Amino acid sequence: MKYFEKLLIANRGEIAIRVMRACRELDIETVAIYSDADKNALHVKYADEAFHVGEAHPSKSYLNMERILDIAKKSGAEAIHPGYGFLAENYRFAKLCLDEGVTFVGPRWKTIKAMGSKIGSKQMMREAGVPVLPGTEGGISSIDDARKIAAEIGYPVIVKASAGGGGIGMQIVNDEKTLEEAITGSQRIAKSAFGDATVFIEKYLVKPRHIEFQVLADEHGNAVHLYDRECSIQRRHQKLIEEAPSPIMTPELRERMSKAALRVAEASDYSNAGSVEFLYNQDNFYFMEMNTRLQVEHTITEIITGVDLVKQQIAIAAGESLTFEQKDLSIRGHAIECRINAEDPLNNFAADPGKIVRYRSPGGPGIRMDSGIHMGYTIPPNYDSMIAKLCAWDSTRPEAIKRMRRAISEYIILGIKTTLPLHYAIMNNQAFVEGNTHTHFLQEEHIFSTLERYKRDEEARMQTLAGSFDQGKKVAAITAAVNMYMQQKKE
Ligand code: ADP
Repeated sequence: MKYFEKLLIANRGEIAIRVMRACRELDIETVAIYSDADKNALHVKYADEAFHVGEAHPSKSYLNMERILDIAKKSGAEAIHPGYGFLAENYRFAKLCLDEGVTFVGPRWKTIKAMGSKIGSKQMMREAGVPVLPGTEGGISSIDDARKIAAEIGYPVIVKASAGGGGIGMQIVNDEKTLEEAITGSQRIAKSAFGDATVFIEKYLVKPRHIEFQVLADEHGNAVHLYDRECSIQRRHQKLIEEAPSPIMTPELRERMSKAALRVAEASDYSNAGSVEFLYNQDNFYFMEMNTRLQVEHTITEIITGVDLVKQQIAIAAGESLTFEQKDLSIRGHAIECRINAEDPLNNFAADPGKIVRYRSPGGPGIRMDSGIHMGYTIPPNYDSMIAKLCAWDSTRPEAIKRMRRAISEYIILGIKTTLPLHYAIMNNQAFVEGNTHTHFLQEEHIFSTLERYKRDEEARMQTLAGSFDQGKKVAAITAAVNMYMQQKKE
């Protein structure tokens, strides 16, 4: 069964390759697009055809809807997969595709539009009986109203951009004195980042967990959930480590949360793959938002369920019905994802793009690597700093953690700073090992002082490992590196 002959991937990097891999397995030809900064990128080499889309700046390339549709038509692509980021949650693009007769691999544009408004979607879920955090029901109309509502729900509160994403425009407010400043600041950021200055207030939970549910729905009214993911380890409100399932999940909680997630999908007339995000605190959970796209962390759900989410997305977009029901799904083992970003964790996660002078990715049992990088590749400064995703699976959580430590110890990236040493520190952190994570984990767990100690040794380890691969002394070097870490762990 061939869903499409040819599909265009309106994205770059690891996610473009991820989608192309599914296409290759489905015998669908692939069309890549690339900007001036991506002429030598791996996704261009992987695709069957590649078209230049414009200048490096995203607005001139990966966000240029008309140009991308032109390329789809010129190349004969019948469908477009947007990946995540860029145009993935842009309802205008989904609508344009529909108007132009090209299949958009994602939900209906009306659903994307409704869920793109945090205010609108919260309102919709309130009406559908899904728990939401107390706060303003609409946008903030005046500072006086905002003061009144904040006093009612009690500080701390959080000011958020209705059109927001990527943690941009969020401000935590601890008392009335800073409320006005936070609102005007957030409005200014929202206006320039999203073209919409609407902001709202909700109760700020001090140490919640971020738990989300993956859902899949076809265009014929069938929907399933593919269990939960815990995404509490974050920097700047953005995820750094995800795991599936959540370490605190119980059958009873899963029953309650998955029901709510499916209610969200139903209320929004959902089709295709999506994620329903909740904040969890003291046995209560609250709908935060729905991401109407494939998520970065879809990998760990694929690992524990055995379902290829990208293939499902493509089948659904082609009008197919889901071929399985909820009762056919189950969880096998535990999976963890580490986001490898070209950033310096010891310098406030400052981006560190540049040339990768040595590279060797880990492998072996239970390891999945999704990346768009390779030895000699120069990471352009124009895009997101996430360059690879390292996933580890094993039959239990403690074993998955050990496997992740082993994989990190094999991983060599020289020439740029990355989040790899931070991941190693977290994998060895007692609170993490015990599953005690929350969204303030990084601030509280003194990870950075541990990391400071690791830093010099990490650099030495990279050099030793890199050298040893040239000299064929791999095993000894890896053993030495692992022993070195074990030593540090004991300290
Ligand atoms: P974005 O769409 O910008 O990514 P989200 O609404 O998904 O923003 O929130 C991202 C993260 O911000 C959450 O995972 C959580 O860590 C934090 N956050 C958001 N709202 C709250 C809240 N009301 N209380 C506590 N933390 C919050």
